[in-house]
Amino acid sequence: MHILVTNDDGIGAPGLLALKQALSQVGKVTVLAPSHNWSASGHVKTMHKPLRVEPARLADGTMALATNGAPSDAVALAFLGIVEEPIDMVVSGINPTANLGHDVTYSGTVTAAMEGAIAGALAIAVSLDGQGGDADYTFAAQFTARLAQRIAQEGLPPYTLLNVNVPNAPEEEIAGVLITRQGLRIYRDQLVRRVDPRGKPYYWIGGDRPTGVPEEGTDIWALAHNYVSITPLQLDLTAYDLMNRLREWDW
Ligand code: MN
Repeated sequence: MHILVTNDDGIGAPGLLALKQALSQVGKVTVLAPSHNWSASGHVKTMHKPLRVEPARLADGTMALATNGAPSDAVALAFLGIVEEPIDMVVSGINPTANLGHDVTYSGTVTAAMEGAIAGALAIAVSLDGQGGDADYTFAAQFTARLAQRIAQEGLPPYTLLNVNVPNAPEEEIAGVLITRQGLRIYRDQLVRRVDPRGKPYYWIGGDRPTGVPEEGTDIWALAHNYVSITPLQLDLTAYDLMNRLREWDW
């Protein structure tokens, strides 16, 4: 089992190191990750600037590769030949904050795993439900290693991935594991208007952190009740009910 580990927080992120160390028990691990933080970068294919790949040293002294590209670029580069040995699995994370509901379309963590699924690999995205600062990746990393071992044996259907979110708590405080569906996030974005030194307006998208609708069976409900949530995702975004309705229209 050859596992590519990446993330969207950059090569120096503690969640990446914890993940890499835990997955080393499961197989051979290669790390190729962005050189800086790309959180909320979505699914990117860089086509208008050159991509670089440089060797980097992780905090435990092991070697990795860093790119100036996005998380999904890192995975694409690995599959396109930067990593010579065939890759069986892509694991992305561990993100310090949860990726729930519609977050998955914004998330660099999840879209890096999506890129792995597109390349035909087994793919897992892992996030910790931390609020920053006090993140403890120990249990999330161990859980992911166990999950990766199981997935290596059982396989996943083509073009699917697992979006895993783990409570930021020690193992004894975690209620269990739930297989969930995507919940509904409530975003609280607000436009912040500023004026630059030349008198031109510029904008930030600011506001409070998103909340969510805690409907039972969703990833949001699971995390709110201290469960690990595993949401299976597929790259096929077709809305089948709507497709069938539209086919009944008189075209
Ligand atoms: Mn991130």
